[in-house]
Amino acid sequence: MATRKTAVITGSTSGIGLAIAQALAGEGHNVVVNSFSDTEADHAIADAIAKQHGVKSAYVKADMSKAAECRALVAKAAEAFGSVDILINNAGIQHVAPVEEFPIEKWDAIIAINLSSAFHTVAAAIPLMKKAGGGRIVNIASAHGLVASPFKSAYVAAKHGIMGLTKTVALELARDKVTCNAICPGYVLTPLVEAQIPDQMKAHAMDRETVIREVMLDKQPTKEFVTVEQIAAAALFLCSDAAAQVNGTHLSVDGGWTAA
Ligand code: NAD
Repeated sequence: MATRKTAVITGSTSGIGLAIAQALAGEGHNVVVNSFSDTEADHAIADAIAKQHGVKSAYVKADMSKAAECRALVAKAAEAFGSVDILINNAGIQHVAPVEEFPIEKWDAIIAINLSSAFHTVAAAIPLMKKAGGGRIVNIASAHGLVASPFKSAYVAAKHGIMGLTKTVALELARDKVTCNAICPGYVLTPLVEAQIPDQMKAHAMDRETVIREVMLDKQPTKEFVTVEQIAAAALFLCSDAAAQVNGTHLSVDGGWTAA
């Protein structure tokens, strides 16, 4: 997409979402940064992106566990910047527990934030994209959208669900120049993951490299984390003109995890 577009990235105050917001701004697009917290620091992120890249950027608070707020996020972005051309559904949470002990409220929250939020934002964005003559939707799924791991029932169910939503939306909008694809990251070195390394080193009496290789990256054949920049680069590709015929599919960035 050559000209300046407006991008909405859900859950973009940290990790993968923030890297995608920065990368899209780096391409000259206006970006809407989102989370549910609405702190000064959240607004400062949007201001810094605008300053650094010479684009428009705004922070919009919306709790992605709430249908009305998901839809309002898209409406507010369109109101502020005139359109929503790129939608990145990224917000996500995790909880780990055996299925028979999985807390009901955690199941409901994960399905709402990791799956249903994308249904709501997509539904709100489609009329805008159709009116604008095209658009890009990228859903941040996971290797867990393709394969399972024990104790992650809600996350795996939500991520498999978003793969189905991705394909359905792609088919429905195929004649409208709107593409819908997923990215399936393996383990990505986000601040959240980085913070766990010292504890794991203590718990397993291992050095950093051994913890990363044998504990955290057990399933990732390269034994290296994916970086947020690598996920952002994949998102930029899916939002580019070159990807106009890439539709209803996924891009795995998982160090070979799902090849096994
Ligand atoms: P992160 O915790 O660093 O960032 C998550 C973002 O979502 C934050 O900005 C947070 O504020 C926001 N968020 C959480 N709940 C929200 C809510 N209710 N409403 C609005 N915003 C909310 O996480 P991350 O690792 O960057 O993960 C981003 C996405 O990538 C998620 O969908 C996750 O499942 C997926 N993913 C991550 C990895 C990984 O290893 N980090 C691997 C595969 C997929």
